[in-house]
Amino acid sequence: MQTNLGEDTMPTNPAMATSPHDIIEVLRKLQILDDEIREIRIRRTERLDQLDKLRKVIAHMQREIEDKRGKLIEAETSARIKLSELDTEKDRLNKSKSKLNGVTRSKEYVAVQKELEIIRKNLATKEDELSRLVKAIDDFRSAIAKEEEKFADWRSEADQAERDNQASLDSMQTKITDVDVRRKVIADRVDRAVVKRYEKIAAVREGRAVVEMKIETCTGCNMTLQPRFAEMVLRATSLVQCPHCSRYLFGDASAEAIA
Ligand SMILES: [Zn+2]
Repeated sequence: MQTNLGEDTMPTNPAMATSPHDIIEVLRKLQILDDEIREIRIRRTERLDQLDKLRKVIAHMQREIEDKRGKLIEAETSARIKLSELDTEKDRLNKSKSKLNGVTRSKEYVAVQKELEIIRKNLATKEDELSRLVKAIDDFRSAIAKEEEKFADWRSEADQAERDNQASLDSMQTKITDVDVRRKVIADRVDRAVVKRYEKIAAVREGRAVVEMKIETCTGCNMTLQPRFAEMVLRATSLVQCPHCSRYLFGDASAEAIA
């Protein structure tokens, strides 16, 4: 039998439930609302976990890019040093050249020529090194630029997801608050001690404190009930708790008769 318990209208002046039959009806309504809240909370936690993962991925990407930028700066510094070394070498070359002009003796001429030769070789090596370094820096720089572009795309997608998630988290929170209000109205219809007991059972029984008895079996713990218990549940003249799992039991007399 499908009843519309969860959509119960909010009585402005609810009558207290005093008979066991009415109390179990109220507890069933509480159970439905609590199931609803639990469900929303689970989804909420999942969303929060997703957000957390996304944030971690973004932070990791950002760290990697920053790391590469740092390495690029190091390479650029080393290129500048090489360039200044090259300038020094060029100065030496010019000095040697002008020395050559003032040379009169052939022995000295040969020596300066030799010096020039060495400087030229050095220069060629340094120029070669520098041009390779500059090329590597250019490649590295464009690779970083591409990564930054990709990262920017990722980031804007993540930002959008974050906004969507936030909206959905907010709506979940609103729902929880709304259900809580309805829950309070219903809970006020039974004695506080009964609600407390219900909550105690729910806390140790995966949130389920009220379950249906089907074919003389508790659907909470699947244990078969003694016929006298089953009969008490169907009569509903007293609040019956499962002797195995302590959950409150309710039954459908017509269904049990068919079974
Ligand atoms: Zn049970």
